Amino acid sequence: MVRIREGKEKNLLRHHPWVFSGAIEDDTVPEEAGIQEVLTGDGRFIAWGWYDAQSHIQLRLLSWKREEYPDESWWKNAVRESVLRRKAFFDDKAGDTTAFRIIHGEADMIPGVAADVYNRIVRVIISARVAWTMRSVVVGAIEGLLHPDMIILNTDQAFCAIEHLHEVTEYYRQGERFTPESRFDDIRIRERGIYYTLTPGSGQKSGFYCDQRENRVRLENYVKDAAVFDGCCYTGGFTLHALRAGAATVHAVDSSSDALHRLLSNVNLNAQMGTIPADSRDRVTTTRADIFETLRTMPRNAYDVMVLDPPKLAQTIKTLENAKKAYKDLNRTAMEKIRPGGIIVTCSCSGALSREDFRTVLAWAAKDAGVEVQVLETLGQAQDHPVRLSFPESEYLKVFILRIVK
Ligand code: SAH
Repeated sequence: MVRIREGKEKNLLRHHPWVFSGAIEDDTVPEEAGIQEVLTGDGRFIAWGWYDAQSHIQLRLLSWKREEYPDESWWKNAVRESVLRRKAFFDDKAGDTTAFRIIHGEADMIPGVAADVYNRIVRVIISARVAWTMRSVVVGAIEGLLHPDMIILNTDQAFCAIEHLHEVTEYYRQGERFTPESRFDDIRIRERGIYYTLTPGSGQKSGFYCDQRENRVRLENYVKDAAVFDGCCYTGGFTLHALRAGAATVHAVDSSSDALHRLLSNVNLNAQMGTIPADSRDRVTTTRADIFETLRTMPRNAYDVMVLDPPKLAQTIKTLENAKKAYKDLNRTAMEKIRPGGIIVTCSCSGALSREDFRTVLAWAAKDAGVEVQVLETLGQAQDHPVRLSFPESEYLKVFILRIVK
């Protein structure tokens, strides 16, 4: 049993799932990792949680119902419910979208577990010790529900140090672990009708950012006959949608040459399959470069539409101030360089930067660039990456579509 210090229980009673060490009464700090009943200072039940001194969030709340003790069957059921909430994706018999998220961590009430379906393969990413401890239950539940060809599970590199986890990748077939003998063949997925290939399991970069699914489709409304810049393009999500919607040209920039190769092969694939115009390859140029440098040296008035989708610039609250400067710099330069009346699709996937703060940063950028900016659309993460109201941290992707009036 763990007792929460007075004053620290309010958010927890509102179903916020994280308890940091300072909130636990000293004389009730557990000696071992495991399930704990969590009470207020005066002994009222708050929730069942998982305590682990080695986790950077020492106590994670799981179930707010006293009668629902979070044992293995609780975890199994939580996975099942999370998957069933994505029923509409599984029911898409046309196969228009075959890559989507089935578990979105705390926002799906399952701490430290993200899971994505890529066609017949499931990728599970573990970012908390409790999830590592429970991984075989999670894998077993997914196997039982979906019978995928393979489940690839890995720990999230970004959290290994603070969670005292090792960087590990495990492979499961029919629920049993196995050691792959060679590199896997590429697989083909589809998102909103566009094809992408990816290599299962080879490190962090084998994924696909399906949280931007709907925003890529939104971009299509602004690009007809436009000169488009796709900044931090990865494997071409925005580029391909721009081509489908009739962009005159797309210039795609990323720091990773692997990503750019993949982008070009995705363009070829879609042109062949007829999902984008046949001459698309002639409309695309790619450059391996740093986005900040590219924007600085770019001539003015070269583009009608610019997409800015940088990686997480604020890793934590501690680096937030520097990250704000970087976001401002990036957006200010784009606002200066874009044609009058142009459109900027600007994104931030830093959880530590709130939507309000991102808007403020954009306002500073506009002021310094000497332009007026209209917000045309306020967007976020796709519905398979839900935001849980009791857990504001689950809102991480902020996207604004802006018109730059000069
Ligand atoms: N827009 C992409 C996802 C972007 S992910 C999509 O729709 O799929 C962020 C990308 O930024 C990664 O591909 C990464 O290689 C790239 N990146 C990271 N730092 C960069 C930098 N300084 N300059 C350019 N690209 C960068």
